[in-house]
Amino acid sequence: MQLLIRISRLGLALATTLTLLVAQNVTAQVSRDTPFYVDSINYDPNIPRPETVIGHPLGHRIARNDLLVQYLRIIAELTPRITVETMAYTHEGRPILALTITSPENHARIDTIKAAHVALSDPTSRQEVDNDMPIITWLNYGVHGAEVSSTDSSMAVAYHLAAAEGDEIEATLQQSVIILIAVFNPDGNSRMSAWNHMHGGYVPVSNPSHRLHNTFWPGGRTNHYWFDLNRQWLIIQHPGPRGWVAKFHEWKPNITVDYHEMGQNSTYYFHPGAPNRTFPYIPDRSMELLDQVSDRARSWLDSEQRLYFNEENYDNYYIGKGSTYPHMHASMGMLFEQASSEGFLDTPHGVLSFRDNIRTQYRTSLEMIRAGVEMREELLQYQRDFSSESFQLIDEDAIKGYIFSAPGDKARAYHAIDILNRHQIQVNRLEQDITVDNIEFTADSSYLVLADQAQYRMVKALFEKITNFEDNTFYDVSAWTLPLAFDFDYASLGSRDIRGNVVGEIITAKFPSESAPARADFAYMFSWSNYYAPKAVYRLLNAGVRPKFANKPVTIDTANGPVDLDRGGILVPLGWQGGDLMDSEIHDLLSVIAREDGIEVHAINSGHTPSIGMDLGSPNFTNITKPKVLLLVGNGITAYDAGEVWHQLDARMNMPVHMYDKRQIASLDLTEYTHLELVGGSHADLTTQIDQINGWVRSGGTLVGIRQGAQWAHDNVLYRGSNSDEQEQDNELERFDYSNKDGIEAESIIGGAIFEGDLDITHPIGYGMANRPIASHRNTLIAFERPENPWATVIQISDNPLLSGFASTENQAVLAGKASVIAERHGQGSVILFSDNPNFRAYFFGTNKLFMNSLFFSKGFDRSR
Ligand SMILES: [Zn+2]
Repeated sequence: MQLLIRISRLGLALATTLTLLVAQNVTAQVSRDTPFYVDSINYDPNIPRPETVIGHPLGHRIARNDLLVQYLRIIAELTPRITVETMAYTHEGRPILALTITSPENHARIDTIKAAHVALSDPTSRQEVDNDMPIITWLNYGVHGAEVSSTDSSMAVAYHLAAAEGDEIEATLQQSVIILIAVFNPDGNSRMSAWNHMHGGYVPVSNPSHRLHNTFWPGGRTNHYWFDLNRQWLIIQHPGPRGWVAKFHEWKPNITVDYHEMGQNSTYYFHPGAPNRTFPYIPDRSMELLDQVSDRARSWLDSEQRLYFNEENYDNYYIGKGSTYPHMHASMGMLFEQASSEGFLDTPHGVLSFRDNIRTQYRTSLEMIRAGVEMREELLQYQRDFSSESFQLIDEDAIKGYIFSAPGDKARAYHAIDILNRHQIQVNRLEQDITVDNIEFTADSSYLVLADQAQYRMVKALFEKITNFEDNTFYDVSAWTLPLAFDFDYASLGSRDIRGNVVGEIITAKFPSESAPARADFAYMFSWSNYYAPKAVYRLLNAGVRPKFANKPVTIDTANGPVDLDRGGILVPLGWQGGDLMDSEIHDLLSVIAREDGIEVHAINSGHTPSIGMDLGSPNFTNITKPKVLLLVGNGITAYDAGEVWHQLDARMNMPVHMYDKRQIASLDLTEYTHLELVGGSHADLTTQIDQINGWVRSGGTLVGIRQGAQWAHDNVLYRGSNSDEQEQDNELERFDYSNKDGIEAESIIGGAIFEGDLDITHPIGYGMANRPIASHRNTLIAFERPENPWATVIQISDNPLLSGFASTENQAVLAGKASVIAERHGQGSVILFSDNPNFRAYFFGTNKLFMNSLFFSKGFDRSR
């Protein structure tokens, strides 16, 4: 604290003389006076260096994000080479800057350059590569906020490009447009920077056990909701990624470089990755060209006698990563991974210094810019060929498109169309009802995605199920099939299917606001199948209204005729049974729900319905209690899982989430909460709290377990002491050659695949879902023997369960027939177990509904008699 006050008081001029954390006492290799910037180049003295704004030389501390932003804005003011814009604001309100860096002459015709460049990717355009076209090189920094040499090197690169003088830089800027993004994840980076500032001292400490080098929960890698943003290029559910993807398509860069850090005990990695682990829709030519791009980085690292590696560990399979998404768009996605230092650190490869790491990332950035200039014509021509080739691929493909629908849930369809549109994929309305593969698709709720479009490869990547692989090792998930994640009815289309009057107009994603309901005399109802129905119900509960849900299908009379509502239909009574509000206030609230939550609300004028045995006062309507959700967080908890719960409730459903550190649970009064969320992670430390949690459930609480949290609740609360019949162990001892270890072990991993189960849609935890087959995301082998209670298995894993992605036949056989979701009453309370992850990456809009049901309908079912 004292330190920061001093910096601001002394002003920027003195800041450069501060020598905090300088490596006076570390080894010669690091403290050698390697010039940071390129020593053969003159730099314009009118452009300030980063240290004059951030308060310390690069590498002495992690730069504060607000000062980094300030620095980049200042130099953009001072040079005609740079323009700056705010591409997006994060959840925490930090700007993500996009710098456009090129010669002043190019800036003067930037829109013309952009239009001609983007036209190269349009198969219907006649644009060809010409000599005037600059190469577009895109540099990403800091998608992982804890990977700080990436973030801080952005300032060195921007400084260099702003201040370097001479023929080489002039030529480079004439032949390139450089898009520099700083930084992708300023929220996570700010957590990391605060930690570094808190623990940094005047004397550097390189001991790896030092608190500075041991990161806090949840660390700085992730964004505000603890999501890994480097998985969001495909999923785009956060403001930052929405900004990047829009910018990416605005420019369609030829080289896209993503800067990272990896574990401390490593060297330096860069793409190309493991060759057998490339997504099938990425052309071989892309990898060949990428290898040439890498040569620039290789020769620089050789000249510096620096250890590095390529072609192993990392890959280009999951296309939602910043270095793989570009390969789906004719761009050389390049990944750099620098061993992390977080200050000064002893490692088996010698002492790492933060300054040196920043310098390495900065210098390889220059090499990527150089590669762009040297390969300019080749890469632009590749971009052109890539798009022309798509015509041929479309011709050869028997599949001419896909059709999908979400009957009764326009918002879920909206979110899918929104993702598709952000990837520049065209979506058409269905003109007339059709039946494909015995599935009926109605024109009012179905959409077409045709193969014949510029983004053909992306269409295939999002809709195709893949279950055969050249290599069974995956750096990330092996499946992300969109219609499965959204639980759509869907089918692929042959040319016969789209003949005649089938393909309607092109549409764009528009949130499905509904008009206000008619004024009711007696009650309102709406369907639970709407994605935002839980948000609406929470609004009602929060306002003091008393909504109920239907345990049977019901037909209601409305001014527009009879309407059928499936199980889970929400009833909002009026009059004294409606709660604290006046009837007119309830009407107003339901009008807001129709407009903002996209829900069609029905007005009802009598308590008697056309359904036999299902009048509005029927005992088959159950009151809903307002959920008050406690989420355990902190050490041992998987931050991704916890963040997904937080995001789902807070950002989407507008519900408060009460977070509490797991280590302090003993001091907590659980009776204040209705639901306890225990997500993935290691929970051995909860053994001492079994009685506390069990007692709370027995007296009425609901324990919701996800992944390892479900396993813990299963073993320690729900079926504690019962003889779970252990799988017979196969006692035959095997022996393998050690060199096969990686491959054989990879077989046993489910790195993220989509499995099919049979969902009991008549169970309250299955309400709102139209069909029994359900796809869910699985990345563990956790699943349960079916419980004795025959009504408790909400989802049973199918016999041939693999829908998309990789899982070995052995693992599929182990999982087949088991329970993946269990719901049981336990004393006065309930325990609901999700062995899969229903909220995975904010992408599984289908299974989100089951998770929401565990909050609203957790007392809606009875025990076995
Ligand atoms: Zn990273």
